[in-house]
Amino acid sequence: MTSNTEYSLFEDVCQAVDNAASHVDIHPGLLDQIKFCNSIYKFSFPLKHEDGSYEVLEGYRVQHSHHKLPAKGGIRYSSYVNEEEVKGLAALMTYKCALVNIPYGGAKGGVSIDPSKYDVSQLEKITRRYTSELISKKFIGPAIDVPAPDYGTSAREMAWIADTYQAFNPEAINAKGCVTGKPLSQHGIRGRTEATGLGVYYGIREAVSIKEDMDVLGLDTSLKGKTVIIQGLGNVGYHSAKYLSEAGAKIIAVAEWNGGIINADGLDIEDLKAYQNHNKGFKGYDKGEFVKESKSLLTQACDILIPAALENQITEENAKDIKAKIIAEAANGPVTQGAEKILLENNVLIIPDMYLNAGGVTVSYFEWLKNLSRVSFGKLEKRYDRRKYENLLDSIEKATGKSFTQEQRDLIARGADEQDLVYSGLEETMVNAYHHMNSVRKDKGIQSLRTAGFIVALERIAISYMDLGIFP
Ligand code: GLU
Repeated sequence: MTSNTEYSLFEDVCQAVDNAASHVDIHPGLLDQIKFCNSIYKFSFPLKHEDGSYEVLEGYRVQHSHHKLPAKGGIRYSSYVNEEEVKGLAALMTYKCALVNIPYGGAKGGVSIDPSKYDVSQLEKITRRYTSELISKKFIGPAIDVPAPDYGTSAREMAWIADTYQAFNPEAINAKGCVTGKPLSQHGIRGRTEATGLGVYYGIREAVSIKEDMDVLGLDTSLKGKTVIIQGLGNVGYHSAKYLSEAGAKIIAVAEWNGGIINADGLDIEDLKAYQNHNKGFKGYDKGEFVKESKSLLTQACDILIPAALENQITEENAKDIKAKIIAEAANGPVTQGAEKILLENNVLIIPDMYLNAGGVTVSYFEWLKNLSRVSFGKLEKRYDRRKYENLLDSIEKATGKSFTQEQRDLIARGADEQDLVYSGLEETMVNAYHHMNSVRKDKGIQSLRTAGFIVALERIAISYMDLGIFP
């Protein structure tokens, strides 16, 4: 996977916003206010190695928009992290939250390191130091800016962030809401780990369910038997593949940075993931053919191509060779604006990142609400609901003289627990946002779902500035 310095994700996002703005009646000053990054914090800090040597690391936190607070977005650990990337990712968070109607401004952070080159104690040092830099500049807090996992980070790093923040703010009762994606034992929420991949699944399922749109692509409306190629089998790629496989789709290839694997009869994702965890790659996996140049897998024939790794993967160079009918952007920014033009001419449906990977921030929002209220979802009403439905079933039995089986009783009377409510909220969010975005696309007579997504987001953000009387 490549990312080069001339390419600017931020410029790419701005170009997409400009395309959308040409369909919206918006004051040019307001458009600039929306597009520019509100605050950029770039800093460096030293890391002492065991042998006494020092390394100076670069960290970033960009708050793209304060139109709603707190600002929200992940923290990325990758050697590709640079200011333009973090700005672009922060901007995408603003539009993503607005599109799926989650009340946050957009932000993103990162440290320019390859995390695989550091041991756990060094990563802990880096994370705690990064957090204290944010604290000292008031760039983190449950009401200010709330980070989350992203490429190269996970619940483990979020636990260190929460712990560091709490140590500096011992009396802040909402301190745990300073970061989301935490482990369950550290006030995380059930369903957060799989949230982005589950959201990707809901989003693709919704897109594929619309007959009128599938007719244009020559596809039917079922996920059963659809062939899928995935780039990246990290948290997002793995969960997307898992839910799609369970729905009957056939994962025929997976591309990773250190080689890919292909099997036209379909891959068993659980088996492949277990092999990857154990062997740090797919080399030697005997239930498929190993492909060293994994990027070539993006241009293999399939129904759905899911880039779930980094930005700038489908560019003007390889766009014309793409054979997939649908590109589902699980990663942020995997298709450049130049590539999108070519793909649209070739009648490819692109389900845009700002919509498709919004499941992560959606469930982050639920986690933040849980932290602020300090009670988990379902805790109060689960047993009450069960009793209410049991009473109803008893009355039906009495009136009909027939009995329900225990299995039927359990199914009907079961009260919702935290995971049920998180999944339900996520599904509702993804389903509604898709239909809203798609209806705007049709109403405006445009081809690009991305442009439609940006139109919805721009209109929502513009209204919040206009209601403050800042712009006419
Ligand atoms: N890093 C994820 C994203 O890009 C999640 C952000 C969040 O939960 O705040 O959307």
